[in-house]
Amino acid sequence: MRLEIEARDGMARSGVFHTPHGAVATPAFMPVGTRGTVKTLDGDDLACLGAHMVLSNTYHLMLRPGADVVRDLGGLHEFMNWRGPILTDSGGYQVFSLDAKVSESGVAFRSTYDGSRVELTPERAVAVQEDLGSDVAVALDVLVGLPAARPVVEAAMQRTLRWAERSMLARRREDQSMFGIVQGGTDPSLRAESAARTAELGFEGYAVGGLSVGESDAERDRAIEVVVGELPEDRVRYTMGLGDTEGMLRAVARGIDLFDCVLPTRLARHGKILTPEGDYSIRRAEHARSNGPLDVSCGCRTCTSYSRGYLRHLVQTGEPTGLRLLTMHNLTYTLSLMGAMREAIVEGRFERFMASTIERRVSAVSGESLA
Ligand SMILES: [Zn+2]
Repeated sequence: MRLEIEARDGMARSGVFHTPHGAVATPAFMPVGTRGTVKTLDGDDLACLGAHMVLSNTYHLMLRPGADVVRDLGGLHEFMNWRGPILTDSGGYQVFSLDAKVSESGVAFRSTYDGSRVELTPERAVAVQEDLGSDVAVALDVLVGLPAARPVVEAAMQRTLRWAERSMLARRREDQSMFGIVQGGTDPSLRAESAARTAELGFEGYAVGGLSVGESDAERDRAIEVVVGELPEDRVRYTMGLGDTEGMLRAVARGIDLFDCVLPTRLARHGKILTPEGDYSIRRAEHARSNGPLDVSCGCRTCTSYSRGYLRHLVQTGEPTGLRLLTMHNLTYTLSLMGAMREAIVEGRFERFMASTIERRVSAVSGESLA
């Protein structure tokens, strides 16, 4: 599994990430299929929308239906009828947001499904992801909530490194690549050390963890710059949980290749529409009699076939079809943004593209349009 870089523009780069289930054009966005499905969509829908790769959650699938069940039903691709590449996260993010007990061996928590006590170690996280059969597994890391004192952040970062080493040793499958996770909070020296030492372990790609947790744009930019400076050029760089337009543009400008986020799909289920002119709520009364599409510049099925008035009616009455159609639009918006970024990088105009995209959204928002 390798990353072929095809174009560079400043620090931004565009290329192709090859996996056993196909190629992913980068920079790429992965829709999130938490429990083995992107809510309201199926595998065929995702293919129609032009998604290249999806993310699924180790934590949820190991508890329900169980990784062994997924394995016995042919693995995650077969199970969810998605034939493209899949990345599974390590489960760490979900586990640490519960009231988890962390020790050197791993982390213990209570299942959100039935309250039973579950243990996740770096080795178990690898075994579970190998059962799921994703193309890319992610090593289990230690998360700390920010802001936190430097010694706390450093201890978590050091333990993450020890867990990364154990994860590497636990690997059995040769058709699955593994990404290590860089931690270190917003402290540039800790980030640099974490990135350099994780890179020494020789992962096939690197995730920047612990971002999008309330840090400022400047802090996040700096953390990404420091990390990217320590990572090998020919490996994928992935910021976990980042998926807003401005955030992804700023990260791509600093050399990031891969994203995932629940934002586009979760906002859709709340009636919030993403557009190049800014975001708005379809729930607002002014849309009740609108015959226009959600976004005049969008070519998705929702925008070509349905009016704002109809979609607002579906959302207001709680019809599942409404959530599905809005999800399809928001994913189309996000995937199109990635395509436009790739094009801008290839054509050597990424900086201008980023400035005009942000400017357009900001002016649209200040000129009203945001709910
Ligand atoms: Zn649309």
